[in-house]
Amino acid sequence: MNECNYVTHGNYHALNMVLLCRKIMELIGLNPERLSIEFMSAGEGIVFAEVMNAFGHRVNRLGPLGRSEGKDQFEIRSRLKEITRLVPYIKLAKQDKLAARLENPAEYEKLFTIEEIDSLISDIVSYHIDPNRCQACMICLRRCPAEAIAGGKNQIHVIDQEKCIKCGTCFDVCPPRFGAVKKISGEPVPPPLREEERTIVRKSKGNR
Ligand code: SF4
Ligand code: SF4
Repeated sequence: MNECNYVTHGNYHALNMVLLCRKIMELIGLNPERLSIEFMSAGEGIVFAEVMNAFGHRVNRLGPLGRSEGKDQFEIRSRLKEITRLVPYIKLAKQDKLAARLENPAEYEKLFTIEEIDSLISDIVSYHIDPNRCQACMICLRRCPAEAIAGGKNQIHVIDQEKCIKCGTCFDVCPPRFGAVKKISGEPVPPPLREEERTIVRKSKGNR
C-alpha cells in the first residue's frame, strides 16, 4: 500500500471507494464478493494472473447479477440505476472517510456501515424550483454541475430529477430575494411545468 510513488496516493482512495461500493452492494442486496481490490506491483505478473483467475472463478460461481442473491434482475437493475445517480452525492457527503489512509485490513470493514449509508440515502433531499418565484436569472442553470436545470431567458427554470446529483448548488446560488429553489424531503417532488407553461410574462412600465 505504501509503495505508491505519487503524492496523491490514489491507491488509498481506490480502496476506500471499493469499500464504500461493497457496502452499497450489501444495502441493495447484492453479494459484495462481486467486487474486489488487490494491491501489487507492476512486476508481479504471476500474482496478477492468479488473483484474476481466482476472481473470475468466484464471479462465475455467483452467476448473473441477482441470481445467487435470490433477487429479481429487474429490481436489482432499477436499484443500481437509482443508486448510481446518487454516487456523486454520496462521495461528497463521505469525502473525509474516502480520504482516509487505512493501513490495516482490520480497519476495512469498519470504515463504512450499511446503517450509515442507508441513513444517508433516506435523509437525502431533492431540489425543486418554485415556478411562482423563479425570475429566470439563469444563475442556477449556469452553476449546475450536472446540466440538470433547463431554462432560458424569460423561462421558468426546471430541474430534471433524473440528472440531478443533489449537490445543492442551485439552492445556494439562487438570490435570496427570489428564494425560488426549495429543498424537499419526505414528500414527492412536484412534477415540472410543461414547456408551454414556462414563459414569464413581465409587466412593462406602461402596464403598471
Ligand atoms: S442540486 Fe441543483 S445544482 Fe445540484 S445537480 Fe441538482 S439541479 Fe443541479
Ligand atoms: S437562480 Fe433562482 S431565480 Fe434564478 S433561474 Fe434559478 S431558480 Fe430561477
